[in-house]
Amino acid sequence: MREQDLQATEVGWVPCAFCRGPIPAQSFTYWSAAKRLLSAPCPECNRRVTLAATTWRRWASASPEQTA
Ligand SMILES: [Zn+2]
Repeated sequence: MREQDLQATEVGWVPCAFCRGPIPAQSFTYWSAAKRLLSAPCPECNRRVTLAATTWRRWASASPEQTA
């Protein structure tokens, strides 16, 4: 598998869908050719977490200071 440059300069954390453990947003790689899905192995429970690209972007750029 090739590593993708996701340009995540501000790396956030994505909560695991299974155990809620923190997964570095940077560790996600594109899972589909259309780049609509990303996936990464959870370091806590070793399950593969799949995420929509739009959701990933929200987490990856999330800042504690940010208010909607
Ligand atoms: Zn997990």
